[in-house]
Amino acid sequence: MASVELKAVTKSFGPVKVIEGIDLAIEKGEFVAFVGPSGSGKSTLLRMIAGLETVTGGDILIDGKDVTFAEPSDRGIAMVFQSYALYPHMNVYDNIAFNLKLSKFDRAEIDTRVKEAARILRLEELLSRSPAQLSGGQRQRVAIGRAIVRHPKVFLFDEPLSNLDAALRVQMRLEIERLHRELGATMIYVTHDQVEAMTLADRIVALDEGVIQQVGPPLELYAGPSNKFVAGFIGSPK
Ligand code: ADP
Ligand code: MG
Repeated sequence: MASVELKAVTKSFGPVKVIEGIDLAIEKGEFVAFVGPSGSGKSTLLRMIAGLETVTGGDILIDGKDVTFAEPSDRGIAMVFQSYALYPHMNVYDNIAFNLKLSKFDRAEIDTRVKEAARILRLEELLSRSPAQLSGGQRQRVAIGRAIVRHPKVFLFDEPLSNLDAALRVQMRLEIERLHRELGATMIYVTHDQVEAMTLADRIVALDEGVIQQVGPPLELYAGPSNKFVAGFIGSPK
């Protein structure tokens, strides 16, 4: 059974079709990158999987269950955004715990999960700091911590590193790689950065104008792009 399955998923905003007939099955534990230029529909597709955007047509299944019309909180997913607004008046611990408190987890369970996330993300020494006392990379780790404590089956990342400088981006990329190995969860990662996609993903989904142009392992797209778009975006220079 696929972890995430999209069947003929379409999306229109008014008369404008931005996602057209997407069929895709993502395996459990797979790391899939959605790549494409700005406006190609990456975020919209991810937001539909998350339940933050309604679908115009088609079905979305998670672990075989049709979640097309399910609430975001009932989908077993957690999303990490590009702009990770932390609560400035709360320390790191409370920022990570926040969603669990809303979901009425008991205090001991919250504590166990926050400490587990802090260990995985190497935030143990920083739990009592406020966001203002953190570096950009540390803040992004706290944002990922908020996703980890929910024990999602599927992590959704929308350009999580694009606000970081180049050196931090490389460091955080390695962190995300390690996170994937350690958790073994399914990860869907939106990026317009070819290097990120090439180094992180088991498979790349190349999107242009809401249509899948090619799906496959990074080297397959790199060495054998199926059309000009893929060649220009990821293919090896010829
Ligand atoms: P990407 O993440 O690849 O940059 P998006 O999914 O954000 O692309 O956008 C895809 C297309 O859908 C763009 O043309 C964008 O303008 C349009 N779009 C996205 N969200 C909305 C919205 N809420 N209302 C109208 N158009 C939207
Ligand atoms: Mg986007």
